[in-house]
Amino acid sequence: MSLKIWIDGKFHDKENAKISVFDHGLLYGDGVFEGIRSYEGRVFRLEEHLRRFYDSAKAIRLTVPMTAEQIASAIAQTIQINNLPNCYIRLVVTRGVGYLGLNPQKCSSPTVFIIADSIEMYPAEMYQKGVAVITSSVIRNHPSSLSPRIKSLNYLNNILAKIEAADAGVSEAVMLNAEGNVAECTAENIFIARAGQLQTPGTADGILEGVTRQAIMELCAELKIPCVEKMLQRHDLYIADECFMTGTGAEVVPITRIDGRPIGTGEPGSLTRRLTEAFHRLVRKG
Ligand code: PMP
Repeated sequence: MSLKIWIDGKFHDKENAKISVFDHGLLYGDGVFEGIRSYEGRVFRLEEHLRRFYDSAKAIRLTVPMTAEQIASAIAQTIQINNLPNCYIRLVVTRGVGYLGLNPQKCSSPTVFIIADSIEMYPAEMYQKGVAVITSSVIRNHPSSLSPRIKSLNYLNNILAKIEAADAGVSEAVMLNAEGNVAECTAENIFIARAGQLQTPGTADGILEGVTRQAIMELCAELKIPCVEKMLQRHDLYIADECFMTGTGAEVVPITRIDGRPIGTGEPGSLTRRLTEAFHRLVRKG
């Protein structure tokens, strides 16, 4: 059976799920999106994802033509019709169909679509052994240029860093901000552990406020693991006891090597393991 994609209120088979070549989401990356996950039919932190979605849209002066309740219902229908209790959900709103100029006012109405697809599992080895990353020479978008707090359809900044990682033979890159401080990975937030305390860059460092990051900070409070938002330099990464990244798709992934240097023992650390287990329990609770 073909995957059914929700576009502007109607379901289409994957093969026929099409957007106009005049849509400014395609022509200019003019739009915002969310990556959401459903576990056993329960959507994890939907409210937080929708809040970020509306905030992103507001920041680019785009009015989402649906209420949060309508979007939640469309997401639920998309999961159900595709019979995908465990899936990754992509929610997108674009400026809509316009002309070749970039004036958003010439776009008739925003396009909204929802894709629910089976979750692409990362190799188990990645979680057991951890991954090697580089720090990228591509700096994260300057907040005064395009705020990383906006989950916009323009991911070229991150894609260039991802390509640099691939060229270096590793799967991920840590992006620094214009000041040279640590921001985030290309689609994940980053944490380090140092002397029993977790540290993660704050919004002023130019990051997307990850839903998984927030969940990890809450778990730290529950587990009485000290956790602070802190400006981090590349040096802090190199001398960390542990390091991991968090995201909706990746969940919690240990980082065991940065720029060729082993982090801590070079194995995933005990705080990383504890939080990974706690996170898995949390997503199943909903
Ligand atoms: N940073 C960036 C740039 C991202 O694209 C993502 C993935 N949405 C994250 C961080 C992690 O956010 P979340 O935990 O909400 O998936």
